[in-house]
Amino acid sequence: MKTKKVGAAGRFGSRYGKKIRKNFLKVESEKAAGWSCPRCLKKTVKRESAGIWYCSSCRHKFAGKAYKPA
Ligand SMILES: [Zn+2]
Repeated sequence: MKTKKVGAAGRFGSRYGKKIRKNFLKVESEKAAGWSCPRCLKKTVKRESAGIWYCSSCRHKFAGKAYKPA
């Protein structure tokens, strides 16, 4: 469920504080955005787990940062 002001962070209600939810929104939107693969340059990179990124196009798996590939 989304709310107009806090977006996907709305599911937390008023918990965790404004600042943390704001940070979460940034991280969450970056996670969903899709990153381009360093090998095939397609935007098919998804986060597999924290720091591990996987390209569904060329099956390239690589290490990156927790919330963004590099
Ligand atoms: Zn690729």
